[in-house]
Amino acid sequence: MDGLIRRTVQRHLPWSVHVDLTYRCNERCIHCYLDHEDHGEMKTQEIKDVLEQLALAGTLFLTFSGGEIFLRADLFELLEFARSQHFDISLKTNALLIDVERARKLRELSVRKIQISIYSAEPEVHDAITKVRGSLERTLAAIRFLQAEGLQVKIACPLMKQNLTAYRNVQALAAELGVPYVLDMTITPKMDGDMSLLQLRSSTKELLPILEDASLNPRACSPDSLETEMISTGSATSSGIESQAYEDIPCSAGHNSCYISPYGDVFPCVQMPVATGNLRKQTFEDIWFRSEEMNRVRAVRESQLPVCSKCSIRQYCERCPGLAQMEGGDLLGAYERACELAEVNARIAGVANPVSAMHAQRLKQENVRSIPLPMAAPEIRIGSN
Ligand code: SF4
Ligand code: SF4
Repeated sequence: MDGLIRRTVQRHLPWSVHVDLTYRCNERCIHCYLDHEDHGEMKTQEIKDVLEQLALAGTLFLTFSGGEIFLRADLFELLEFARSQHFDISLKTNALLIDVERARKLRELSVRKIQISIYSAEPEVHDAITKVRGSLERTLAAIRFLQAEGLQVKIACPLMKQNLTAYRNVQALAAELGVPYVLDMTITPKMDGDMSLLQLRSSTKELLPILEDASLNPRACSPDSLETEMISTGSATSSGIESQAYEDIPCSAGHNSCYISPYGDVFPCVQMPVATGNLRKQTFEDIWFRSEEMNRVRAVRESQLPVCSKCSIRQYCERCPGLAQMEGGDLLGAYERACELAEVNARIAGVANPVSAMHAQRLKQENVRSIPLPMAAPEIRIGSN
């Protein structure tokens, strides 16, 4: 697999593309970063044109997400078209609108994987996060419909203060259903830059019992066990496949993966707010190969990162350049959350007193500031008068 991924990176092949079909949603999750108003989504034909361009550009993995994708009346028409272009199709949905009939159609269209968010096995906790009463019950019913069709379901459990302890019951629920799950600790700022959602994040101290739990140890995951349980603390490749091929680049964004919004805007990643072009004005090929911004992202090498390249605990860090941009304002920079989590991970791995390069730099500056300035040296005169 490594060799194949390496070639996609070397040749800038957009093999994994995430398309949000809509930002509209039938849930109102408290941690959601989207603006749910429709500001002019691409029409059916526009999306088909985009899919055709992606197929020509070499895309293999296609993810349809949102918002809630089942709010698009043309979803099955788009899936059918995507199928005709031979993509490997994954969906992300809250599953509220999946019934027996729709599950059957998804199977007929050979959708490979469906990722569904569950926040807790307790309805009062899950429903309080989605703000839709009865949503857990409906989502679980949909999972069973999908399973009855033999479809592959994966549970995603974003963790925040409101459901921090739910990871155990979600783990048990996934085992009972016989599906893999992922715990995701990533809470991002809103698309408009509003940082208020970050208050929902659990502190690293609160997360410690989860990070220390050997049964959830993300570092035990090999590329082959990607579909098994793991923790994500903010960074991953867009395709979900970790590889040595990403060694000296921060991640897959802009190298072999990208994100397309419902309005046709192209970004290197759903988590990287660097606008590179719009498919209503330019072709995908133009944006992917010739956008200045895309090429700027693509040119970044880990070894050139001003702070992180000197970090002694880099191997424990899941720095995401998109979050570095959103939280620290610098695509190349370090940011507080990544450093905190890396220090915790390093400590758990047995590193004594781990300090991230950013924190070390800050400590040095503080020490310099706190050292009293030397008194002016007495003037020494040699000679008479
Ligand atoms: S721990 Fe901080 S300084 Fe070190 S690599 Fe991660 S983000 Fe950069
Ligand atoms: S920008 Fe962040 S979320 Fe996107 S692929 Fe890179 S590390 Fe992953």
